[in-house]
Amino acid sequence: MTEGFVEFTAEMKKEYKILVPNMLPMHFRLIMRVLKNYGYDMELLESEGKHLAEKGLRYVHNDTCYPAILVIGQFLDAIESGKYDPHKVALILFQTGGGCRASNYVSLLRKALSKAGYGYVPVIAFSFGEIEKHSGWKITIPIYLEIFHALLYADLLMNLRNQCEVYEASKGASALVCEKWVAKLTSGDNHLRMPTKKESARTYREIIDDFAKIELNRGQRLKVGIVGEIFVKYSPLGNNNLADFLVKNGAEPVIPGFVDFILYCIYNVVLDKKLYGFKSLVYTVYEIIYNVVLKKQKAMIEAIKEEGTFDAPTPFDVTLTLAKGIISFGAKMGEGWLLTSEMVELYHSNAKNIVCTQPFGCLPNHICGKGMMKPLKEKYPDINIVAIDYDAGATAVNQENRIRLMLSNARLALESEAEAESESEAKKESASGEAEKASV
Ligand code: SF4
Repeated sequence: MTEGFVEFTAEMKKEYKILVPNMLPMHFRLIMRVLKNYGYDMELLESEGKHLAEKGLRYVHNDTCYPAILVIGQFLDAIESGKYDPHKVALILFQTGGGCRASNYVSLLRKALSKAGYGYVPVIAFSFGEIEKHSGWKITIPIYLEIFHALLYADLLMNLRNQCEVYEASKGASALVCEKWVAKLTSGDNHLRMPTKKESARTYREIIDDFAKIELNRGQRLKVGIVGEIFVKYSPLGNNNLADFLVKNGAEPVIPGFVDFILYCIYNVVLDKKLYGFKSLVYTVYEIIYNVVLKKQKAMIEAIKEEGTFDAPTPFDVTLTLAKGIISFGAKMGEGWLLTSEMVELYHSNAKNIVCTQPFGCLPNHICGKGMMKPLKEKYPDINIVAIDYDAGATAVNQENRIRLMLSNARLALESEAEAESESEAKKESASGEAEKASV
């Protein structure tokens, strides 16, 4: 238990609002709905702007990870906004419990709260392995399973929206379908309760059918993958609305699902057994959970394949094989080997252009992301990766200019690919014409 720990009690659960940082807006809205079914009153913080990082920097040293500065800034900004009674709010941080600095974010937040005079505000560290115990916060296995289901719906919505948005004939059509489904899944008392296999398959199919009805003008697809440290990869606040920026510039963002990250965290425990020969029942339990979640992810992927309109994501058990021979499975701080695997996965999914988002000074990402660019380029010479640093001092203009440059290279490569294809078609046609003449 860290210094400044304040327990979130059962009494608090009845009357406190739990504030949630803005990392994955759609995914978190669905998680919050699941938790609402169990009596937790939660609110997603949607504030944005430079002032959040500035607020964070008043309480956190500037050599700390950028995601911590942003999240702590957003929490303090909310507490001081006058919108909430500071004596009736709690804060939540999602924790993997891994070896990277993120596992210290909770202590950093408590320190910042105490410096700002809010040391009495409880902070919940939400982690699979229950890093800390709070009598008012009890997440059972069935709740986790409901959360996994909710995350798969969110991954599906994110994936299909990204495949439609840049090509839609009527602007905003895919955002509307997304919004409709988030509203549908989060309204009513029993929504997002554990669905049966049949129910979730039906929901997947209905979602896919709705997206398939959107009129698209798809010409040549310029796919751009987004990988990187978990917060700046997903959070529009952390990456200056990167996915929107790509769409506005005519590119299709391809963002690996959040469930892959969950599977990565679970599989890393299984790996400890394989790599280091650890023996404990815990590893068997994690192996079972891994297989359950993987099976559920595959069911969602199968639904996309079966309908046939959209590209299906790669199942995690394939993703994890892709970086073999490039990076060791022992590299599991932060996003670790998953980051490298995802770049290979994107390459094989025809998203050869990749933005690798990294918080400035993030060591694991500089090794597993930027550090892997050279070996990846040697293995896949046409891969086009640009590493973009995100921090409180970086300007969006600078980041966007570098991405624009990458996009223009990507367009040139697409054009020469198309030219080469039409040349080879023409050669084939003339060869078959000559063969016909010869036979006459
Ligand atoms: S992965 Fe990078 S940003 Fe995240 S905690 Fe580790 S060092 Fe910080």
